[in-house]
Formats: sequence, C-alpha cells, structure tokens
Amino acid sequence: MKDCIFCQIVQGTIPCARIYETEDVLAFLDISPVIKGHTLVIPKTHVVNMLDLPGSLAGEMHLAMQKLGQAMMDGLKAGGFNLGMNNFKDAGQLVMHAHYHLIPRFAGDGLSLWAQGSYRDNDEMQKVAQEIKSAIPS
Ligand code: AMP
Ligand code: ZN
Repeated sequence: MKDCIFCQIVQGTIPCARIYETEDVLAFLDISPVIKGHTLVIPKTHVVNMLDLPGSLAGEMHLAMQKLGQAMMDGLKAGGFNLGMNNFKDAGQLVMHAHYHLIPRFAGDGLSLWAQGSYRDNDEMQKVAQEIKSAIPS
C-alpha cells in the first residue's frame, strides 16, 4: 500500500535494520525500542491487523518468532522475551500494517508491561465473561 510505512520498509524505500525474512514475513528492529533488540515482525503483504491476518500467514509469523525469540536469548543473552500486538487505535496501534512486537527481557530490566486491576466481585467477572462469550460466532 502506497502510504504505508511498513510496506515501504518491505519494498526497501525506507531503510531498516533487517534481522530475518522469508518469502512472506519480515523482521526488523523497532526504531524506538522498549528494550534494545525490540523487533517488529510483519507480513510482507499489507494486512491491517490481527483480524485480517490469514491463519497460514500467522503460522509463518509464529515460526519466525520462535526463531527470533531463541536468537534473542542466544545472541543477546536475554533471559526471556515478551510478545505483543496492538490491534486498532484504541489499543495503541499507530502503524496500520499488522505487526508483532518481540521484546527481549533481562533480569532486573525494570520493565512492567501490564498495570493490573480487579473486578468488583464475582458477578461482575461473570457478566464480562458472558458479554465476550455471547459475541463469539458459532
Ligand atoms: P504500534 O503502536 O503497535 O503500531 O507500533 C508501531 C511501532 O513501529 C512503534 O513501536 C514504532 O517505534 C515503530 N516504528 C515506526 N516507524 C518505524 C520505522 N521506520 N522503523 C522501525 N520501527 C518503526
Ligand atoms: Zn502496509
């Protein structure tokens, strides 16, 4: 897609620090890393978010991320890695070309990804569960 920054990275018109690629998947360093080594994994075709991502392509991305996660542990001596994906603007998606964030983690790096909350009571928890369950297509 012409105006998409990640499509331009795939085409090579915008530079990036490429790490890994297959025919359908590209991985490169995020320009503003949460932790150094923070990597973005994208499909080479323009897909907006996870809801549009075909299962076969998601499977290929999964295989790439298994290799990359292990490579972060072996190459960067990371103790682990986080995997994340922002879908839609309200979830913080800024680039509308689907991408996974793969973030190497180190003991004591101080990064806290989730600020956790609580439900008022079990009724509220069951109600929220039901709202999601009832919207799942059969
Ligand atoms: P998101 O908020 O999930 O859409 O994340 C978009 C990510 O793309 C951010 O973490 C940005 O730092 C990253 N980003 C934007 N432009 C570039 C670029 N030219 N090269 C590498 N990463 C980029
Ligand atoms: Zn794109």
